[in-house]
This record gives sequence, C-alpha cells and structure tokens, in this order.
Amino acid sequence: MHKRVNRVSTLLLVILLSASPLANASSFKVIASFSVLGDLVKRIAGEDISVSTVVPADADVHNWELTPPNVLAIEEADIMFYNGFGLEPWLRHVKAMSDDSLTLTSVAENADFAPLPITTGQYKGATDPHMWMDPQGAAAYIEVIAHTLAEHYPDKADAFHARAEEAYLALQTLDQTIEERLDGVPNTNRSLFTSEGGFSYFARAYNLEYSSIWGLNHETQGNALAMATMSQRLAEKRVPALFYESTVSCIHADSLARETGISLAGPLYVDSLSPQDGPAFNYTTMLRYNAELIHEALGGARPE
Ligand SMILES: [Zn+2]
Repeated sequence: MHKRVNRVSTLLLVILLSASPLANASSFKVIASFSVLGDLVKRIAGEDISVSTVVPADADVHNWELTPPNVLAIEEADIMFYNGFGLEPWLRHVKAMSDDSLTLTSVAENADFAPLPITTGQYKGATDPHMWMDPQGAAAYIEVIAHTLAEHYPDKADAFHARAEEAYLALQTLDQTIEERLDGVPNTNRSLFTSEGGFSYFARAYNLEYSSIWGLNHETQGNALAMATMSQRLAEKRVPALFYESTVSCIHADSLARETGISLAGPLYVDSLSPQDGPAFNYTTMLRYNAELIHEALGGARPE
C-alpha cells in the first residue's frame, strides 16, 4: 500500500513537472488594444505568450467602450500595448483603473518613424495615429513590441528578437509587393480619397495624393462643411473612385459618389482586421487586400 502511494505521488510529481512550462506560458498575459496591433504582437509573442485584444475584429477602435470581460482581462494582464496619439480615447479608463503591475506601452509614440499631421477636422495639426498603414511603420511597431516583451520576459528574449527579425523581413517583402502593384496605377489616377483620414501614411509610402471627408473617426462624420469641401475636391480632381472603410458607414461616401457621378469603392480595412473568414484576417492580408482594391478602383493595369 505504502509503495502504491509513493508511485502515485511520483506520477503526480512527473505530471506537475511536465506541466510547469505550460503553466508558465499561460500565466504570461499580454493585451493589445485593437485587432491589427494584436496580430503584430502575436507575431512576436509566438507560442510563448497568450495574447488577447480589447477591441475585436470588425469593431471600431475609436469609439469603443470597455466591456466587463475587457476590464477583467486588463486586470490580469502584465502588459498592454496600445497605439497612442489619440487612437484609443477610451484608454483614459484603463489608465484610471490600472496600477503599477500593468506595463502600458504605446507602440506609435515610441516608434522610430516619421509622423504626419492630421490634415482635416477638429484634430487638425495633431499627430495622425494610423502609422501602421505603412509597412515601415508596422516594422517600427515590431521593434517596440520585441523590446518591451524582451524586457519583461528576459528568458524568452532570444525568441522574441528572432521573430522580430523574421517579421521585419516579411514586412519588407510586403512593402515591395504593394509598391509594385500600385506602380500599375496610371499617373493621372494616383489620388486616394477616403471617408476617414486613415490613409495618410499609406499614401505617403506609395506616392498617392490623399484626401478624406473627415479626420478621426470619433468626430462628427460627414458634417455639412466637410461634405461640401469633399464634393468640390471631387468635382475638381475627377478621381475614378471614392472609398469607405470597414468600420465606418458608407452613406456619406455613397451620397458624394452619387452626387458627383464617380464610383463608390470599399470597404478598405484600416482600423480593424476582418473576421477570420474575411479578406483581411491578418496584417499582411489586410494591406494586400487594400492594395488590390485601390489598384482596381483607380484603373490599374491588369497583370499580363
Ligand atoms: Zn482610424
């Protein structure tokens, strides 16, 4: 009998020992503020850390309100990555409720990447938060993410840095692919006009003129002055298409498109990934999908 008990406790010990790396892994908790950033964090965290996101795919990061499950997850987390530069106005509630046990890191405000100002609406002149829309901006985010994770979980630092290197190279390839695709848009059509002002960095990266109906998404959408200004610009520029984004209503863009007789195109993905079965389920597919849609709607040359 005594022997049997011993064997059982040995077995238990073996189970506990073999289970311990898993237990450690699941005790790492990292949260990203929205789905696009969550995908970038997951690339670096790999299997070592469980990553969740506050704002789910297809929801609007600008206008989010924290849910009770969000609050519980944030309370248990070690690190929360957010974009910053005003993308997440609801972050003030996170700051108010969190203590020193939560590391709060802004990827955009710490990124080594040249900022652009918001050019229209009530936040005109402030730094445009949508830096991830340029793959080089995403690469700068990756550096901040890897550095923060490595500092927090030093025994996994080598794995984080190796994944960051891999992600960096993949972003360079993506950048080149998009550049080649958009090179096929004729010079006369290189104007990207969207609803929300989320594409400044994308437009700078790929040499497109850029204009939007309004600035940040939490402003009044499509007020009379903004609509009249865009209507006039569309009449002057005669762009082939006006775009809308997946997290905004298309009614404003649709009404301007009808009024000016140009095509309505979209949705483009910027502030959110699509659900898993959609066309923009991770960062890479999101940017590729946008590039294809823009290429087609702006009369890009068809591949031979
Ligand atoms: Zn936005």
